[in-house]
Amino acid sequence: MSSSALLLRGGQVLRPDRTSGRADVLVRDGVIQEIGADLAAPGAEVIDATGRLVLPGFVDAHRHLWLGALSASSSGVPLFTYAQQINEGHGDAFTADDIYAGVLWGALQAINAGVTTVADWAHNLGSPADIDANVRALSDSGIRARLFFGGKATSSGDVSRFADHARDMLARHPAGGRLEFGLGLRGPSMSTPEETEREFTLARELGLPISIHAGMAGLPGAVTQLHEQRLLGPDVNYAHATEFSTREWELVAGSGGTVTATPTVDLTMGLGVRPATGPAAGHGVAAGLGADTVAYGPSDLFGEMRLALAAERVHTNAPVVARGEMPSELAQDHQHLLEVATRGGAQVLGFDKITGELSPGFRADLITVDLRGPHLDGFGDPVLAAFLGAGPRDVDTVVVDGTVLKRDGVLSGPHVERARQLVLASRERIRARRR
Ligand SMILES: [Zn+2]
Repeated sequence: MSSSALLLRGGQVLRPDRTSGRADVLVRDGVIQEIGADLAAPGAEVIDATGRLVLPGFVDAHRHLWLGALSASSSGVPLFTYAQQINEGHGDAFTADDIYAGVLWGALQAINAGVTTVADWAHNLGSPADIDANVRALSDSGIRARLFFGGKATSSGDVSRFADHARDMLARHPAGGRLEFGLGLRGPSMSTPEETEREFTLARELGLPISIHAGMAGLPGAVTQLHEQRLLGPDVNYAHATEFSTREWELVAGSGGTVTATPTVDLTMGLGVRPATGPAAGHGVAAGLGADTVAYGPSDLFGEMRLALAAERVHTNAPVVARGEMPSELAQDHQHLLEVATRGGAQVLGFDKITGELSPGFRADLITVDLRGPHLDGFGDPVLAAFLGAGPRDVDTVVVDGTVLKRDGVLSGPHVERARQLVLASRERIRARRR
């Protein structure tokens, strides 16, 4: 049950200035009111955070939540095989009920892993009823979201046919709530220049930010084409962005665009050899991290942070090692990746004034990581210990907008058991329709 006042007592709190220390966090009416020692809050619900690290909740800046129904169904294959199996295979067997079940379950997977805000990139919506089911599932899950809706990922994905429905939804969900919108468009890699222009123009008429998949190996030139069509802008987010040319990075930086790296998919599916977090930092481009698809990879950002750091160090160390030397300096650090996975994602989603850091005035989107297990209970920096070794099972508490959605390591929202039943039934229906 949500409470108008919530006190997390005695945790190790990570501050925006990268320091951490023992403090209480007082939440009132969904907002972080105060962080300090021995806070008094008569009547508040108290959560004992002793032995836990208190962090801003993760912001997953690119994830297809509907694939929550299909976790681990298409791993270890290249992108075009994956797209055939998932988008053109299972995806076509989905009805609005399956969208609801998949998105709700996918959102709970994310919350369980400490994700409090998600960019839900919905590319299996064939009708207004599908969009409404997606919206309902996000609302019921309790997660904060920007729903990037569009058509199907396939050639039938022209989003223009949803224009009237989009206007209607925007009227029903005014900006500033837990759920906001954007358009997930096919972009130059998956549509014609005319389609791209029409869809970008629609997004701007509606005042909605845009996200596209761009820069993957074998599909070059998306940013260059957008530049030639004069369509670049600060409202465009590029997912993957693994193989942008230097000129394209400069164009993205100059236009104020943002990127989202999805390291597991980027590197193991072969979309590139370096996550976008590295070049984004070099070019001053805002970057977030995403898990992308649980049909292929894991559901948490702990692993994505570690993989991004390892990959960036491989990239910078390789020339030194090739000379037969040992690197004397190492690129990036855990604090940088933690910021990318929290306030970086918030910036990508246009939520940076409300979430992504633990400061008074920000919405209360936060998690605790239990440090008492042998794998995390160390001698050194507890933030580094969590970065190096934590996973979804160590996420003890998840709070979104002041509401506790995971408590004592167990999902606690009102829809958890129903979601489990719905997704099991949905999987049976999808299997039956595909026979
Ligand atoms: Zn994607």
